[in-house]
Amino acid sequence: MQKVHEGWSVAKAAATYGIKEWGAGYFDLSESGEVVVKHHNGSAETETSLLDIVRGVEARGLGMPVLIRIENILQRQMTRLHESFTRAMADHGYTGGYQGVFPIKTNQQAQVIEEVSSFGATLGHGLEAGSKAELMIALSMIESSNGPIVCNGYKDPEFIDLGLQTTRMGYHVFFVIEMPSELGLILERSRALGIEPMIGVRIKLSSNSEGRWQDSGGDQSIFGLTTSQLVELLDELKAADMLHCFRLLHYHLGSQIPNIRDIRTATREASRFYADLVREGAPLGYLDLGGGLGVDYDGSQTSSIYSKNYSLDEYAADVTDVLATVLGEHCIEHPTIITESGRATVAYSSILVFDVLDVTPYEAGEIPTPEPEGNPEPIRNLYEVREMLGVRDTQECYNDAIYYREEARQEFEHGKLTMRDRALAENLFVDVVHSIGRLLSEADRIPRELEGLSESLYDIYYGNFSVFQSLPDVWAIDQIFPVMPIHRLNTEPERRAIIADITCDSDGKIARFCGGDDARRSMPVHRLKPDDDYYLGVFLVGAYQETLGDLHNLLGDTHVVSVRIDGQGDFEFVREIKGDSVGDVLSYVEYQPAALVERFRHKAERAVRDGRITVAERRRLVQAYEAGIRGYTYCKR
Ligand SMILES: *Cc1c(COP(=O)(O)O)cnc(C)c1O
Repeated sequence: MQKVHEGWSVAKAAATYGIKEWGAGYFDLSESGEVVVKHHNGSAETETSLLDIVRGVEARGLGMPVLIRIENILQRQMTRLHESFTRAMADHGYTGGYQGVFPIKTNQQAQVIEEVSSFGATLGHGLEAGSKAELMIALSMIESSNGPIVCNGYKDPEFIDLGLQTTRMGYHVFFVIEMPSELGLILERSRALGIEPMIGVRIKLSSNSEGRWQDSGGDQSIFGLTTSQLVELLDELKAADMLHCFRLLHYHLGSQIPNIRDIRTATREASRFYADLVREGAPLGYLDLGGGLGVDYDGSQTSSIYSKNYSLDEYAADVTDVLATVLGEHCIEHPTIITESGRATVAYSSILVFDVLDVTPYEAGEIPTPEPEGNPEPIRNLYEVREMLGVRDTQECYNDAIYYREEARQEFEHGKLTMRDRALAENLFVDVVHSIGRLLSEADRIPRELEGLSESLYDIYYGNFSVFQSLPDVWAIDQIFPVMPIHRLNTEPERRAIIADITCDSDGKIARFCGGDDARRSMPVHRLKPDDDYYLGVFLVGAYQETLGDLHNLLGDTHVVSVRIDGQGDFEFVREIKGDSVGDVLSYVEYQPAALVERFRHKAERAVRDGRITVAERRRLVQAYEAGIRGYTYCKR
């Protein structure tokens, strides 16, 4: 455990929250203690305060919470991917090219796909579509001269027909066969339309990854062909005289692969398949490594599931190296490498910002001192433990405090202690553990069982957001995202807290944080100031969070603003999307807002008739109701 800081500095704040580790060069702190977005503009580097962006959002009349998208980060991340592969290919004498395709499912929002498509045009970046709806997005959003469209997922005749016909327009559409039965269908539609398909095949590798989604890659994955199915498919293509349409080999290990060793192993296995297929006469030319490129959410640079033990450069270098080596052995021409990197492309560019509405402090209430006569025994004992702190062994004091508090609770249950007695016992307990926390922070050595005690002395900060709507992975799979205050970091955060949302669901909270080897149980925060807003940011939330979110407690979509930073570090709001109003979310669950207003007005009128409210009161009530229907689903402080 860390010792209490002697003096505070912005550098200490940066270390406390790990922003340099997980920030990937995009986020840092300014001297004035605000989180800044860094933007590289050729040789110069600018810093833009996130708080300034938030103030700009509020000045435009949008309240918290807000999802901020930084266009520059998305662009930079796409550029980094291409640069890493270009460098790696030069270093390893790799003669094939690189093409990225963005998997639409990672973030389907129109403004994201627009940005990926328009910026991607300069890089030859394409799109990956996993369903009919995503294919519609892809065909409309990218130019046929851009990168390819890779079609994964289950395909029906309608999907195939559309994809085939658009190849006439010049699109490069790959149909990736995920199960054996798809080949017959593709060949049949191709014959019917007289258009030859570009066929890809997804294979199951036996190499597994130890990440969270390990089952999507290996033997047990639901998609992909086994080796024996691949051989059958090859023979079928030969028999149909269509082997020349077999252009792409694909695999996907699963998302967020933490360990580079697994990436190497899988690439080696896949390259053997590639080599054998070419030797059997398949032209191929494209090897699609799927997704899996990780994001270091906790900044630990380890193979923990929230992290990754490799950089983008290492990823590109390892993959290229393995392919150049294996294919070199067989003198096989190097294919174009495709990656379907979604998470790593888009995660960094979105930040969720919300204000803190309220706090439940973990603090002792009033404790009469000195101890009055005549208290029940558990209370007398707790007073004694409190006296002996610093004299007796700390661990022993802690154990005793727990024991006597439990005794007090039981006696209350049996009617021997009053509610006031119990409140005093609880207060004494909290006071004792806080004192223990202070003693430990000054101690040289911390007893093993008390490690992490001070982390468990936390307040509850109520954030103006919904975990279910904005951070579904926190709830569904215990994902960790970096969370921190975006200002006041030039002063020391005096408290520790967990963050509860406003859904009133006991799962609606952030209670695991980055830091150290394991997830931390609380995070350092500042005390709220009565007249100032306190803003927290949740970072790296650009991938998978938006459409997986739901309407729990009918908290709707947040406002979204897209921000572009210029060469001076000034910013421009390129796009604002207003979040759902109460009326919007009500209509999602099949209410008609106008009809609700009508019914409410009716009830108010009856109340007037019955003499319960005046006409003027009715007017105010109906106005308030209508304003509520029009309003944002989140709170105002
Ligand atoms: C989800 C998915 C991806 C994206 O994976 P990331 O780890 O986000 O890059 C790519 N390809 C396929 C087939 C997928 O299912």
